[in-house]
Amino acid sequence: MARCIFCGIAAHEKPAAIIHEDEHCVVFRDINPQAPVHLLVIPRKHIASLNDDLDGDRELLGHMLSVVGRAAKSQGIDGTGYRTVINTNAEAGQSVFHLHIHVLGGRRMGWPPG
Ligand code: AMP
Repeated sequence: MARCIFCGIAAHEKPAAIIHEDEHCVVFRDINPQAPVHLLVIPRKHIASLNDDLDGDRELLGHMLSVVGRAAKSQGIDGTGYRTVINTNAEAGQSVFHLHIHVLGGRRMGWPPG
């Protein structure tokens, strides 16, 4: 079976514009940005989606959220604002089955989302 693309990015086997990485997660630019700033925050650990049993991953998930805020600040979108999105399964538009938090900013967002 082909290796998960985001596992490949986390392992530096696949190219990506990485803006932050640490022991637990990696942040890189989305290849098809939907806003002037569009980042993806992923865990190094392969988690397919929020539908997984995540009871043992609470610390990791909390860490990812703390990284979101710091990454937004590093891109200068913390003051104007940004949106965080996690798509889960087909109707939400999940296309990569390795958990990721989208961080979008640099333009005004509409609500409700499409
Ligand atoms: P989702 O549709 O919520 O699963 O989001 C997957 C996101 O990953 C999409 O916004 C894609 O543009 C992005 N993406 C897919 N492959 C890559 C890649 N190799 N590098 C950066 N972003 C990617």
